[in-house]
Amino acid sequence: MRSIMDDVKQKVFIVDDEPANVLIIETAVETLGTVISTSESHRAIKLIEQHRPDVILLDINMPQLTGFDICTILKSDPSLKDTPVIFITSFNDTENERKALQLGAIDFISKPVDVELCRTRVKNQLLIQKQKREVARVNKKVSEEKERLDITLKSIADGVVAIDVKGEVNYINPVAQRLTGFSEAEATGVHIDKVMQLADATTSEPLANPALFALKLKHPVGMAYNAKLISQHGKEFRVEDTASPIYDDGGELKGAVIVFQDVSEAVAMAVQMTHLTNHDQLTGLPNRLLLHDRLVQSINRSRVVNKSVALLLIDIDNFKYLNDGLGHEIGDAIITSVASRLQQACGTSITLARVGGDEFACLLVDIDSSFSAESTAMACLQHVREPIHTAGHQHQVTLSIGISLYPQDASSAEEMMRHADSAMYRSKSTGKDKFSFFSKDLHFAMQSRIKTEAKLRKAIKENALTLFYQPKYDLNTMQIIGAECLVRLIDADGSVIPPDEFVPIAEETGLIHELGAQVMRKACDFIRSSELNGRPIKLAVNVSAQQIANQTFADEVEDIIHQFEIDPSLLELEVTESALMADFEEIEDMLTALKSLGLSLALDDFGTGYSSLSYLRRFPLQVLKIDKSFVQDMDTDSQAFDIVNAIVRLALSLNLELVAEGIETEQHLTALKELGCFIGQGYLMCRPLAESAFLRKYLSEQSSETV
Ligand code: C2E
Ligand code: CA
Ligand code: CA
Repeated sequence: MRSIMDDVKQKVFIVDDEPANVLIIETAVETLGTVISTSESHRAIKLIEQHRPDVILLDINMPQLTGFDICTILKSDPSLKDTPVIFITSFNDTENERKALQLGAIDFISKPVDVELCRTRVKNQLLIQKQKREVARVNKKVSEEKERLDITLKSIADGVVAIDVKGEVNYINPVAQRLTGFSEAEATGVHIDKVMQLADATTSEPLANPALFALKLKHPVGMAYNAKLISQHGKEFRVEDTASPIYDDGGELKGAVIVFQDVSEAVAMAVQMTHLTNHDQLTGLPNRLLLHDRLVQSINRSRVVNKSVALLLIDIDNFKYLNDGLGHEIGDAIITSVASRLQQACGTSITLARVGGDEFACLLVDIDSSFSAESTAMACLQHVREPIHTAGHQHQVTLSIGISLYPQDASSAEEMMRHADSAMYRSKSTGKDKFSFFSKDLHFAMQSRIKTEAKLRKAIKENALTLFYQPKYDLNTMQIIGAECLVRLIDADGSVIPPDEFVPIAEETGLIHELGAQVMRKACDFIRSSELNGRPIKLAVNVSAQQIANQTFADEVEDIIHQFEIDPSLLELEVTESALMADFEEIEDMLTALKSLGLSLALDDFGTGYSSLSYLRRFPLQVLKIDKSFVQDMDTDSQAFDIVNAIVRLALSLNLELVAEGIETEQHLTALKELGCFIGQGYLMCRPLAESAFLRKYLSEQSSETV
């Protein structure tokens, strides 16, 4: 802009009725710019309007219009009145000078014109004029800029507050006025700490204003995370943003400006979002995610403060049964009631979370002993025991609780969860409606369980399960009339792992089907060779409830019988009473199908279970096995004796073959025979034997008999 101004030639206008004078003056100023002149004063105004000169040189004494007349006209025209006028006068008297000055003249040139002097004076005027214009132009620009800035600051959605170096507010836009509650007049000149009250949104601790930091540090600073602004009237807004120092053109610090946004809504949304992702929809309780988070935090904290953390894992007993039987709506209502009961039991200092369908967890932090975990667990059990009423129904709910402690039982959040889970399973498997602590025993039990499972999988895969055989005797002749197959796992070191250690694992993991099939094949293989040797032997194989419940079980047994081409009457299946407790009709169909294969069915452990007469009558059973616990107590416990007596009578009346197991003493043997039981097995006669030992015994007894 400046350079264009430099390029544009300034204009000098000369009015003098003497052409000679005009010529002299023209010569004097021609190098200063464009020169326009006239010697006819009546044309002067028109030419001035047309050319808009930067300086006018006016003769005073002229015919028609005098210099004073022209000057008066110019001064009355707003667009021309600021054009500087220099009078040319021959009579350099004070009277004319005063009049000229009154009319607004700025200088005089006297006739005869001194060329040098004239040029200097005109030059000065042009210079002043030029500067004046520049100033006007800059002023205009500045005011335009200011206006634009003002409009921007007024209309943006951000709050803007500017302060001077003392920290006093010198600008506050409407948004900032609304958020702070201070009007422009109230805020101006007041310290920013008073106008903008900032505090931590969580703790409400006052926060220093970032604008003051920007002043001090001389660079932009962000606002503290989690800040809130408290208005003059006590309203609170969540705010976010930055402050920057302000410098003038000379690089001097002038103050600072803070630009901030009301993020209350965004924060509220974010809070809601995190609530959604961290909480369970049904109960509003923290979910597994949030619990894990808090667990990790409390573990870290307890490391520092040297305290313990307890995790209680709570499972509603038989919930699946309730939910499936009564419908999900009632299930949900029960969950909700349990949640609020647990909340009452836990109070506010304990985190209660819902971590699964019917699973809850309590987190106790900063505890000194396991005692508080124990009392919380007791309170939970107690609060839930009161019947729950939903939709006209009354439900009796109990819980199984597992407790693990940090650092006593576990070294990480994951381990705590796992260990609380094992402890909870211990509560479940030992009767429910109770709590258990995870202990080192449980830990070792768990570890050996994991090892046993691995060994079992390996043995199943490698067809390496081993069968032991326990002979069954005719108690009158003491001849072996068959044997029961008992599965064993042989460890790498040759030690024998008994079935009680791995059959329950097989049942939990579903490996029982493969285990059962392998035992069945091995038993049939043995029967097959005994038949080929001309000494056929009847073997009994134990069958789990899960195998019986499997629809294809009878087909599988049939396949194996065919595969080994055995006489099916040499195979007996021993099932427990619990296996018969499922759907009556399905079990009946299954047992009938098995029976039709030509094998026999024995009811194992009779007397320990439900002993319902109705299924003894309906199911196609041939054998009753008296459980060893009765046999063993017979001689010391009259009730056990009576039970055995009753079982014997029952078997007789139902026309069932009777087998006693667990015969350990001569007394057992005598008593059983007296009562009328003539088949049995037990340590008195023989322990379960490995295949070769059993074969030797069997064959030698048979040959000794034939001799
Ligand atoms: P069970 O069917 O009641 O088997 C009898 C158990 O009593 C056997 O224990 C046997 O060794 C033991 N026994 C025999 N005579 C005496 C005695 O005079 N005194 C005492 N105290 N015990 C005696 P084992 O072999 O440890 O088997 C335990 C259980 O494991 C069995 O109980 C059976 O339920 C299960 N089991 C064994 N093999 C299999 C199998 O192949 N499949 C399935 N599903 N379960 C099996
Ligand atoms: Ca058995
Ligand atoms: Ca038994």
